Amino acid sequence: MPGEMSTEPLGQGGRDLDQIQDIDLAPERRAELEAQPINYELPGLGQHYCVECAKYYETDIALQSHWKSKIHKRRLKQLREPAYTIEESERAAGLGRETRRPVASAAPTVPLEMVVEPTVV
Ligand SMILES: [Zn+2]
Repeated sequence: MPGEMSTEPLGQGGRDLDQIQDIDLAPERRAELEAQPINYELPGLGQHYCVECAKYYETDIALQSHWKSKIHKRRLKQLREPAYTIEESERAAGLGRETRRPVASAAPTVPLEMVVEPTVV
């Protein structure tokens, strides 16, 4: 790998993992975040946003190389291993609320294969 590009996102507030899990990864919200209007205040005009990491990148290449990075993959893992709720552990313990329909994996998992090879310049 020829020297890490300076793809570090510029200062941002950052979001909590649970905010990302609960809000940002919802399909509609995610679509919004990935198709943001141009914003001159943001790195890359807000056009290269990693939803999972809540970070903006300057270019598509930077974003794509971020998607391949450990940082991003670690984040995906964290997001996939949510601290499961009390309800979940109750169900596991057999205290389940039988009246409720089981919410089998409501959250679609993001395949790692969605990572796109960046075009070599
Ligand atoms: Zn990311």
